[in-house]
Amino acid sequence: MQETEQKKEMRKVKCPFCGYEMPIFYRPGTAACRDIFVKCKGKHCRKEFEIRIEVK
Ligand SMILES: [Zn+2]
Repeated sequence: MQETEQKKEMRKVKCPFCGYEMPIFYRPGTAACRDIFVKCKGKHCRKEFEIRIEVK
């Protein structure tokens, strides 16, 4: 039950180019990050993009 509630809070990082949902989760509101680059796993995308999350 508690696990379900936690999952609802979590957001996935999406590729800004193709919208592919990366298997990277963050908690909105408290998470913050920048200068971290990942390569999209979308089949026809594979672009590198920065994960930028700002604290709201
Ligand atoms: Zn992509």
